[in-house]
Amino acid sequence: MINFELEAQNEFETLVRDRRDFHRHPELGFNEHRTSKIIAQRLNALGMEVQTGIGVTGVVGLLEGDRPGPTVLLRFDMDALPIAEDTGLPFSSLTEGVMHACGHDGHMSMGLGLARIMARHREKIQGTLKFVFQPAEEGLGGAFAMIADGVLENPKPDVAFAMHLWNKVPLGKAWVTNGPAMSASSRFELMITGRGGHGASPHETVDPILAAAHVVTALQSIVSRNIDPQESAVISVGQIQGGTTYNVIPEEVLIKGSVRSFSNKLHRQLYRRILETASSVAAGFGCTVALETVVIVAAVVNDEEVAGHVRQSAEQVLGCENVLDRKEMASEDMGYMLEEIPGCYFFVGSADEDVSNSYPHHHPRFDIDERSMMNGVAIMGNAVANYVMPVVDKEAELV
Ligand SMILES: [Zn+2]
Ligand SMILES: [Zn+2]
Repeated sequence: MINFELEAQNEFETLVRDRRDFHRHPELGFNEHRTSKIIAQRLNALGMEVQTGIGVTGVVGLLEGDRPGPTVLLRFDMDALPIAEDTGLPFSSLTEGVMHACGHDGHMSMGLGLARIMARHREKIQGTLKFVFQPAEEGLGGAFAMIADGVLENPKPDVAFAMHLWNKVPLGKAWVTNGPAMSASSRFELMITGRGGHGASPHETVDPILAAAHVVTALQSIVSRNIDPQESAVISVGQIQGGTTYNVIPEEVLIKGSVRSFSNKLHRQLYRRILETASSVAAGFGCTVALETVVIVAAVVNDEEVAGHVRQSAEQVLGCENVLDRKEMASEDMGYMLEEIPGCYFFVGSADEDVSNSYPHHHPRFDIDERSMMNGVAIMGNAVANYVMPVVDKEAELV
């Protein structure tokens, strides 16, 4: 039986070195060229069968155990964000305007650490580990691109794992939940069209600005009046664009917003109500509405059995009182993979003990407590072992 906690501790220096190197050289979604080259080289050196260019810049490494068994997918994301770093860290980004501000540098480092540990214990593995390094998680559809390139085939995984270092959670704690773990997310654009004209003669126009103002207000009634209070959903308007100057009533107003919920069914219901509400309110002012949904990310839904193994593993590593059952109203394209394969997505605390001392994800001063990487490696390692290192062997070894 492998002691993943000890193995992760022994890997700590390398975990930090790798994470800081990735941090210094961040690359945006689908442009992770240097990053994926390094990952492919490292996986190759461990004797894995490596495929590159899966979903543009994605890398897949297969570690075959000595004996046959299930295939386990372990997914780590690679992309950075278009943010100018302001941490002042000695290993700050060398690329202007690009930063690992979400912790994906740590994810890759943990993936490589786990790959080294598993490769060292290949003789204990019954099955295949599929290490998946995914590009473009930040709203660009990297998971979708990898699935289109066959990442879920040959061999088809039986179970899948992914994790996120999470700065809403202090070091030494983790969130693991059954069922929905992260929300479905989509963006919408509502174009409200009226008839423009002189601001001094509003009666000769159909004012889309007035209609838009009422539409924004009415949209906020959907969550409060149409959705079961036991469920959660968010509709946020983030942008309104209309008009060019003070005395001209424009022809059109564009409203852009974001929708989140923990079920894809609820998501469809929200959109039906957005369209009904917006078009009837706008019609009351003589305007018409066109709705366009730009991107949809499926909810991340955990499998009960797999989540049970992750919870047990996290309790072993961190202590029962430090493993909380929480979900997050943010989104992740891992949801696409978990629609196909039962699995678990979990959160590993990477913030200061006083969370308010740590900056949030996507902030120019975002940083993690690097010790969190040891926890991530140990938790995922133990959980994966349930599938490819059966208990009978563990007992045999103890004798
Ligand atoms: Zn992010
Ligand atoms: Zn992220």
